[in-house]
Amino acid sequence: MKTVNDINFKNKKTLIRVDFNVPLDKDFNVTDDSRIRAAKPTILKILEDGGSCILMSHLGRPKNREVEFSLKHIVKSVSNILKIQVKFVDDCIGPKVSEAVSKLKPGEILLLENLRYYEEETRGDLDFSEKLSKFGDFYVNDAFGTAHRAHASTAIIAEFFPENKCFGLLLASEVENVKKVLETTEKPVTAIIGGAKVSSKITIIENILDKIDHLIIGGGMAFTFIKAQGGKIGSSLVEDDKQQLALEILEEAKKINVKVHLPVDAVIADSFSEDANTKISPVDSIPEGWMGLDVGPKTNELFAKVIADSKTILWNGPVGVFEMDKFADGTKILGESIAKATKNGAFSLVGGGDSVAAVHKFNLSDKVSYVSTGGGAMLEMLEGKTLPGIKVLME
Ligand code: AMP
Repeated sequence: MKTVNDINFKNKKTLIRVDFNVPLDKDFNVTDDSRIRAAKPTILKILEDGGSCILMSHLGRPKNREVEFSLKHIVKSVSNILKIQVKFVDDCIGPKVSEAVSKLKPGEILLLENLRYYEEETRGDLDFSEKLSKFGDFYVNDAFGTAHRAHASTAIIAEFFPENKCFGLLLASEVENVKKVLETTEKPVTAIIGGAKVSSKITIIENILDKIDHLIIGGGMAFTFIKAQGGKIGSSLVEDDKQQLALEILEEAKKINVKVHLPVDAVIADSFSEDANTKISPVDSIPEGWMGLDVGPKTNELFAKVIADSKTILWNGPVGVFEMDKFADGTKILGESIAKATKNGAFSLVGGGDSVAAVHKFNLSDKVSYVSTGGGAMLEMLEGKTLPGIKVLME
């Protein structure tokens, strides 16, 4: 992987695709700047070399150049984080941009307007990509969050930089951390897969099964496995058409000596609500009218023990409806077990959507080895897919 560390950017202009798709409040203040902070090392490396940066990003899903999607709202935040006054141009192609780029001096940063003001961006239009490419001597992709899309600025543009293209430091570390899990020799390797549905996680399970020693399954998706094995799950979440698939996974795991750990008990509720009545039940004899919304205390112990003995840990998906405090304990305890194992020397990667929200909610972000910044992109990497934004940098 060629990264910005392998290039000297002195007196060069570099186009960097960043992921500044940050949440804004009603007054257009950035409410979570972690994506901006994540791009900082790449930008600073280029500036320290004596180069200049042209940052391009999308923000939201504009249809008609609505002003709420303008990247002008984030200029102050980006300037504060980088400790440099960032220049802004209210377009991303055309004469205004050419002029701003030509005036850009070493050590300066120019932020372009939202790429998605042009529908050519998401269409992956070649002509639009070429127009963008004219602004830089080098192309760097550091936008992991959109690396699974073959958009103009994330993939197609690389064609115009056959030699002068490379990984940004964030993108490189995302790829390296997934590799660390899937290609590790530090065993046992444990994958914890939770969340709502088997159907959305099945490709991940199939891809990682022969790379792991333990598979912990929790969350709503566990009930399809429990029912398939003859358990009574009341009105818990289930995908009846995935029962056969669940049995096949269990069979395959057994064949290749992967230990699968399913919940043994559950916190059950008489409605899907914070006000529900709750009790603890064995996971395979949940009464009619009740549903499992979190793992129970025996399961917490069981999962914690497997995690404590692991050297490499991957966590994707909560083991309960952690958004409601009443059903958050299982996910919290699981996260704390991973933090403890990490402290004792294990490598832990948390990635993909809701488990990332969970580590933030329970203040565990600094206590695991790596938290991925890209939801969909991370899931596709775990599924074994080569992401378009990454592929073009390798060619
Ligand atoms: P996913 O996006 O597939 O990772 O699913 C995450 C969602 O699964 C979260 O919103 C959780 O509330 C939900 N979830 C976790 N456990 C359960 C459960 N036992 N029943 C219903 N939903 C669940």
